[in-house]
Amino acid sequence: MVKSCLFCRIVAGDLAAGVVAKNEHAFAFRDVNPVAPTHVLVVPRQHIANAQVVSAADATSVAAMFELSQEVARIEGVDETGYRLVFNVGDDSGNSVAHLHMHVIGGQSMGWPPFVA
Ligand code: AMP
Repeated sequence: MVKSCLFCRIVAGDLAAGVVAKNEHAFAFRDVNPVAPTHVLVVPRQHIANAQVVSAADATSVAAMFELSQEVARIEGVDETGYRLVFNVGDDSGNSVAHLHMHVIGGQSMGWPPFVA
C-alpha cells in the first residue's frame, strides 16, 4: 500500500467509497463523478501506477480486474446490453489518479469515437 495514494486508501478502507464488488486481488467502487448510469472503477489491490508499467509480474492482479469487471457488469445489469472498459494513461488521456484503474461504463448507448477533439 502507498499511503499517499487515493485508491490504495480506498482499498484499505481508510477512505469511504461506494463499494460494488471485490475479490482477492481487485476492488470495485463507484466513480464519484459518473459519466453514465453505470460508472464503476475497478482497481488492483496491489499498487500499480498505470497501464504503461503493467508487466507479466502483474498478471494475477490484471486477470482479477477483468474477472471483477465481469461481475460488476452482471451486478449492474449491463452484461448483456454492453459496456465500455477504459484505461486512461498519461496526461493526454486526462489520467488523474496514479493507481491503475479500469472504468466500467454503461447503462446507456454510447457513441464512437468516445472523445471530442
Ligand atoms: P482517471 O481520469 O482515469 O484517472 O480517472 C480517475 C477517476 O477517479 C475519475 O473519474 C474521478 O471521478 C474518480 N475519483 C476521484 N476520486 C474518487 C473517489 N474518492 N472515489 C471514487 N472515484 C473517485
